[in-house]
Amino acid sequence: MNLILLGAPGAGKGTQAEIICEKLNIPAISTGNMIREAMKNGTEMGQKAKSFVEGGNLVPDEVVIGIIKERLALEDCQKGFILDGFPRTVPQAEALDKMGVRIDRVIDIEVPDAKIEERLSGRRVCEKCGASYHVLYKPSAKGEQCAKCGGNLIIRKDDQPATIKERLKIYHEQTEPLRGYYGRTGKLVTVQGQEDIAETSRLTLAAVEA
Ligand code: ADP
Ligand code: ZN
Repeated sequence: MNLILLGAPGAGKGTQAEIICEKLNIPAISTGNMIREAMKNGTEMGQKAKSFVEGGNLVPDEVVIGIIKERLALEDCQKGFILDGFPRTVPQAEALDKMGVRIDRVIDIEVPDAKIEERLSGRRVCEKCGASYHVLYKPSAKGEQCAKCGGNLIIRKDDQPATIKERLKIYHEQTEPLRGYYGRTGKLVTVQGQEDIAETSRLTLAAVEA
């Protein structure tokens, strides 16, 4: 099963990707996590991406397309995958088609902007392993430390209030048009993502199996 998760930043794509990953035993591929990892390690790509990410902007298409091309060629993707955070622009979706990647389903997780702002401002991420938490909705069982690895939980630079506004604007301008793009293929399923994680995952898994 080759899946794409669409939705605004903070819609819960990453959380749902992990749940589907466990359920179907296929890798969840997050361009955001891959970029942050590269930034942490100071690779050439990471250095290139840093100013875009921290300012709430999208990393240039050719950079993320390159990342995805390499990742999808790896052995573990041959039995299926979940794309979380890619494509985010129409040219990225076109590039995926050009690579000959077949997509079975596109799940669009819909969440109102006000809810998104609340979620992103309460988000905390593990500085060490990248696991994601929320102060109200998904607290770590270890308080200020990551429940998975014990690392410190921090606020991402791009989760600062001013940057959140900018990311939402970019989402509406550049990512939302993908609804039309995939709507035309008949593969798009929209799920409501404003309720809690359990309810959203019930809807998401139903959409995967539909
Ligand atoms: P969120 O969905 O919470 O915005 P991600 O972790 O998916 O966060 O991505 C964080 C940042 O990484 C984005 O704001 C953007 O700068 C960059 N990024 C991730 N995926 C892409 C993509 N497909 N195209 C361009 N930039 C991307
Ligand atoms: Zn961790």
